[in-house]
Amino acid sequence: MERTDEAARERTTTEAGAIASVPTGLFIDGEWRSGSGTMPVQDPATGAVLCEVADADETDALTALDSAHRAQRDWAATAPRERSEILSRAHEMVMADTDRLALIMTLEMGKPLAESRGEVSYAAEFLRWFAEEAVRIDGGQMTAPAGGARFLITRQPVGPSLLITPWNFPMAMGTRKIGPAIAAGCTSVIKPAGETPLSTLALVEILVRAGLPAGVVNVVTTSRAGEVMEPLILDPRSRKLSFTGSTAVGKTLLEQCARTVMRTSMELGGNAPFLVFDDADLDAAVDGAMAAKMRNIGQACTAANRILVQRGVAADFTERLTSRMRELPVGRGTEDGVVVGPLITDEAVAKVQGLVADAVGRGATARLGGQPLDGPGHFYPATVLTGVPSEADLWSTEIFGPVAAITEFDTEDEAVAMANDTPYGLVSFAYTRDLDRALRVSDALEAGMVGINQGVVSNPAAPFGGIKESGLGREGGFLGIDEFLETKYVGIATG
Ligand code: NAP
Repeated sequence: MERTDEAARERTTTEAGAIASVPTGLFIDGEWRSGSGTMPVQDPATGAVLCEVADADETDALTALDSAHRAQRDWAATAPRERSEILSRAHEMVMADTDRLALIMTLEMGKPLAESRGEVSYAAEFLRWFAEEAVRIDGGQMTAPAGGARFLITRQPVGPSLLITPWNFPMAMGTRKIGPAIAAGCTSVIKPAGETPLSTLALVEILVRAGLPAGVVNVVTTSRAGEVMEPLILDPRSRKLSFTGSTAVGKTLLEQCARTVMRTSMELGGNAPFLVFDDADLDAAVDGAMAAKMRNIGQACTAANRILVQRGVAADFTERLTSRMRELPVGRGTEDGVVVGPLITDEAVAKVQGLVADAVGRGATARLGGQPLDGPGHFYPATVLTGVPSEADLWSTEIFGPVAAITEFDTEDEAVAMANDTPYGLVSFAYTRDLDRALRVSDALEAGMVGINQGVVSNPAAPFGGIKESGLGREGGFLGIDEFLETKYVGIATG
């Protein structure tokens, strides 16, 4: 008993130490400053307040943009190698600090520690990828077809950029934007989600230690995202908005950006179909469904929202998936072995419960789970629904929770039609051993990304992004840096 108490005390001290290590101010022009007030950051597993961070108002945010604007010219003129080396050093420092950063992430966001470690490494990989991209920004030249002129095609940084990130991947969504912005020579103001500012603050503190000059990245934390960010979006000094979040907020921001014709990258919501054909390797399909559904406790834009299984293998697949889901330990993400951590807020639990109740009310069967868990924290158990009708709200709404919604199909054409029957188009998954079918279905699926026989598509070296209402632009891969570059053509008369 004594030993258990001591271990618990030690854990509490380590957690408190990790939180205390994070700067809690606004980061503007190379300095940590207080905001007009403070706002609490909570542990979603307990509801306890972890700390208070600065709460910026409109004036604070405009001061951050002043700083980014002032720093832009010098930053654009730095040698690409210098920008690359800052990113390389930051990559190494983040990796070396994985345990602390993962603990901070789990405490503010709830995901199990093993997943937080995975996200730290995924986030760091964007820094490494864009360190490598910084020195490969190219252009071109050609002779005018009619002669008499030569065209020089160059790439220049877009300029001061606004970066807005969500709570579900609080560090990787930051490095996926900060990495290419730094590499391209853009300064930025980043606004992390209100629920999870600490991962961004900890990351930026590392970037500063890695040698990032004052003003290049500025951080604004605020409890009034809309009011505080709108003046920045409307300010003509801002040249780019890179947003990751919900489609609803993305549409509002696109309207604001239209006023100054600002360049945008929009990484928005998803409604991923997960197709299992009767020729699939079912073990692999169940593994893939577990990853696609349960990564981040189901709170991923790429989460398998609709699991469509061909009738001949539906019973077997459902049985295997349900028994895997039944085994998943629920608890605080800091506890050993936990897979199902808390959802981000009480509202998130209420939303998931509403979707499950609606589906059951319309005829679906809850094979597992289906009711929120009692106690402190925002917990929802792993849930499996079968026979989900297409009229159910969750068929057209991101569930964002650990709920596997299964329905059956008969033919490939029917599966593709069901998969595409959504305004979203972020990612689709398909399991089949037939190569012809894999290629045919990949072509037919309306999505920016397709996973064939794999349940996770995120990779810093691949172009991540959606079509339809899932967004505009691509992050990561060879295209990621383009989002922060303008193309300029110089015509030179050659006589
Ligand atoms: P959200 O409510 O749209 O918020 C995203 C970010 O926008 C937060 O920083 C939020 O600040 C800020 N925001 C909200 N309203 C704003 C406004 N009027 N003006 C300026 N900023 C505003 O989304 P979320 O709940 O954090 O994240 C979940 C959503 O993100 C899901 O739809 C998910 O699919 C999507 N997502 C997409 C991708 C992708 O790559 N496609 C990746 C991850 C997540 P506050 O937190 O302070 O409200």
